[in-house]
Amino acid sequence: MKVVDVQSYVLKSPLAEQEEFYASQESFSERSSCLVRIETDSGLVGWGEAGLWGAPEPVAAMIDHVLTPRITGMNPLHVDVIWEKLYAHIRDWGRQGTAVEAISGVDIACWDIAGQALQQPIHALLGGAYRDRVKAYATGGYYKGGPEKWADTGALAAEVERHVATGFRALKIKVGLLSVAEDLARVKAARRALDACAPSGERFPYMVDANHAYPPHIAIAVGRGLEEEDTLWFEEPVIPEDRRGYRQVAETLDLAIAGGECEHTRFSFRDLMLEGCIDIAQPDICGTGGISETVKIATLAQTFGVQVYPHVWGSGIALAAALHFIASLPPSPHSANPLPALNEPMLEFDRNPNPLRDTLLREPFTLEDDGTVLIPQRPGLGIEVDEAVVAQYGPQ
Ligand code: CA
Repeated sequence: MKVVDVQSYVLKSPLAEQEEFYASQESFSERSSCLVRIETDSGLVGWGEAGLWGAPEPVAAMIDHVLTPRITGMNPLHVDVIWEKLYAHIRDWGRQGTAVEAISGVDIACWDIAGQALQQPIHALLGGAYRDRVKAYATGGYYKGGPEKWADTGALAAEVERHVATGFRALKIKVGLLSVAEDLARVKAARRALDACAPSGERFPYMVDANHAYPPHIAIAVGRGLEEEDTLWFEEPVIPEDRRGYRQVAETLDLAIAGGECEHTRFSFRDLMLEGCIDIAQPDICGTGGISETVKIATLAQTFGVQVYPHVWGSGIALAAALHFIASLPPSPHSANPLPALNEPMLEFDRNPNPLRDTLLREPFTLEDDGTVLIPQRPGLGIEVDEAVVAQYGPQ
């Protein structure tokens, strides 16, 4: 089998003004994805997604001008050979960022083809599935409605109630845009709302994400506040480049430190783990090097006693890739009674508006009544991309 055609697609969906939202580093006024479509001489077609967020055009250009000429004619079943060839080419100038994001999309599309060729879901090719569904946590609690409303804890509590009413039994919110006092008031309000929705005596898993907003000494102060609210993990407390700061935060605080969505390839994760920066690794499959590389990162993490909860943000294709990867993750550590947030992975399920997540697939991923998402079982990614939706959000 040979790759005969590679297409990249830049998809964009502007948000209505009232839908715009902030995290600590950025405002989001549109949702976007770079998709990859690989066609083979056998007629099989595979889809991938390249990149986490931000302008998809540079990622598409990397695919078109750098990767496509190198993989045309190669056998897409040789996923590692393709990966190493592409990474070796970009190593001198592209070890972080756009180039690796582009490789990620190509890799996912090759796995999609491999699964279809062998008539197996990708998780079967990864060694088998440990589960047929995974508990999802809602990623919400962004800053909305303009600066005068960012500190509105009533609106945040109402949002938390909506997520639980939808079926979520775990939640992550944002900090880092406001003062420490205002953000800790939000943390407390969201936790209180979550507790009020939980059955008596039960506390749903609760996580807090700073998107690297703090210097280490402030991160430690914020982390103390999070510990008082029974927070499962503190995500990206400091900038990814500051490994000494990460270690200082991790060693000082009792709660788990999570990070890695901005890191690319096993080499970055090796350094994070070697230096004792994180308890939880969050590789993004569409950014860190695709399914091939994320599997290697997970193996590395297991040797360090670091848990893996992948970062997920993009379209339905990103969700599908994450679900196959999660299916293949063993409980960490093994347990005769695997429990989400203890030794079982969870799926990050972004709750911000994104039609590329909700309409791109003919059968979009949805939350089951028990707060889980089902793992796809059909060959490859197990999805059907609606090409009319690709055209709808593609270049006009
Ligand atoms: Ca995050």
